[in-house]
Amino acid sequence: MTFDKNKIPQATAKRLPLYYRFIANLHASGKQRVSSKELSDAVKVDSATIRRDFSYFGALGKKGYGYNVNYLLSFFRQTLNQDEIVKVCLIGVGNLGTAFLHYNFLKNNNSKIVMAFDIDPAKVGTTVGEVPVYHLDELEKKITGELEVAILTVPAQVAQPITDRLVASGIKGILNFTPARINVPEKIRIHHIDLAVELQALIYFLKHYPLE
Ligand code: ATP
Repeated sequence: MTFDKNKIPQATAKRLPLYYRFIANLHASGKQRVSSKELSDAVKVDSATIRRDFSYFGALGKKGYGYNVNYLLSFFRQTLNQDEIVKVCLIGVGNLGTAFLHYNFLKNNNSKIVMAFDIDPAKVGTTVGEVPVYHLDELEKKITGELEVAILTVPAQVAQPITDRLVASGIKGILNFTPARINVPEKIRIHHIDLAVELQALIYFLKHYPLE
């Protein structure tokens, strides 16, 4: 299978994990093909967008046949590196961080939190959800070349200095759950998830843009 991953638009790439999860489930249930309508109903993306996205994957749906599930699965596996587990670290083992350490990312994903950091003596040295918690002082020593992704669940006021240390240690991507707006060098990718803002936005939309 030959394709150029760099040619996939970012918006399409963002939907890849969603498609992958559904296609993997179809494959597990023994289905050989899927129509864009079925995909559209399942992943809640309109079928025109699905057809356009899938044309980037080199998957051409045939009328009355749909898409080949095996082809799509191997494409997604290869593109998302599903055969390789991506190791992730987490900083801040509070309420949210603890929940993530107990969450099985491997179930739907190819990632695994392998270590966590905190400064609270009651947490350092313990294991939460099978993940060892180290003191933040050990960050530079523990983060080696193969760790490139970090989840940040610390109080907002310490997010920036910790981020600077993560970047200096070779972290390339940060999932920031703190409300802090963090500055990173251009080559670092940062995704910001503020749960309180998301919840507020949902409530606002419900109130001002009701669906019925
Ligand atoms: P959450 O925000 O996840 O609900 P919480 O309310 O339990 O957490 P916070 O005060 O937000 O607690 O702190 C989150 C975690 O970050 C705590 O475990 C705390 O010990 C840890 N923490 C605080 N400062 C630092 C720091 N400088 N480096 C690493 N961890 C820190």
